[in-house]
Amino acid sequence: RIVFVNGSFVPYEEASIPIMDRGFLFADGIYEVSAVIDGKLIDNEAHLARLERSLGEISIKNPYTTAQWIELEKELIKRNNVREGLVYMQVTRGVAERDFAFPKGVEPTVVMFTQEKAMRASSAAEAGAAVITVEDLRWKRRDIKSVALLAQVLAKQAAAEAGVAEAWMVEDGKVTEGGSSTSFIITRDGTIVTRQLSNALLPGITRKTVMRLAEEAQLRVEERAFSVEEAKAAAEAFLTSATSLVMPVVTIDGHPVGDGKPGPLVKRLRELYLAMADATPA
Ligand code: PLP
Repeated sequence: RIVFVNGSFVPYEEASIPIMDRGFLFADGIYEVSAVIDGKLIDNEAHLARLERSLGEISIKNPYTTAQWIELEKELIKRNNVREGLVYMQVTRGVAERDFAFPKGVEPTVVMFTQEKAMRASSAAEAGAAVITVEDLRWKRRDIKSVALLAQVLAKQAAAEAGVAEAWMVEDGKVTEGGSSTSFIITRDGTIVTRQLSNALLPGITRKTVMRLAEEAQLRVEERAFSVEEAKAAAEAFLTSATSLVMPVVTIDGHPVGDGKPGPLVKRLRELYLAMADATPA
């Protein structure tokens, strides 16, 4: 397995980061994940644009141009021979003696690796996912894709202990998003509903593409917050992320959504997303 660390492609066993890295000490860094399907990067430029934006929000200079990132990603995919899976990219503020304020004159630490994951044929997508709801314990800048993920670790551990795939985080009675995904419901009149963007949630890249595909297919899309009760009473529900694509949600806190099986509109949206991936140039 080959990984990328600070400008070099190296075997995973030989890769290391100093213990004074601010990513390790303060979670002072940003990450991004792009899916790989048929060896191709999906929606990658949008992920790289979000990476640039997240870095800017915490005043870390993007170490690479978009073209350079793409070249590095493609090289890593090639070296690891990934057909389906993901590329993970992380940039931290760098290595310095521990002190909270930004150190001067340090270079960001850049790490990239790939993971294999079945994307197209997914038994989870066939069966649909169960989710639980948990309180959203996060900070007020959830629009930044920060590596500070402790609240999501705890939320997703609660999900794992409950034997379900995802935790939907709830604030003031309304769903913000999943631990690592965007939440959607489809009302009984066929409207696709997902929360409007704000600092309360991450602007999902898959969310944006799915909304575009839905609109192109003449489906109604509404951006607004929804409650757990409304979600449980919805006709269909689903979640999106780079690595889950479009995933039906069939139970919420043990309560079946619709008839408790993946619904027709969710299936159609997943197919539309996969067709977009097929049409993506190499
Ligand atoms: N929301 C959160 C909190 C996430 O961590 C993620 C992805 O990991 C998403 C939403 C989905 O974003 P995307 O579709 O860009 O992968």
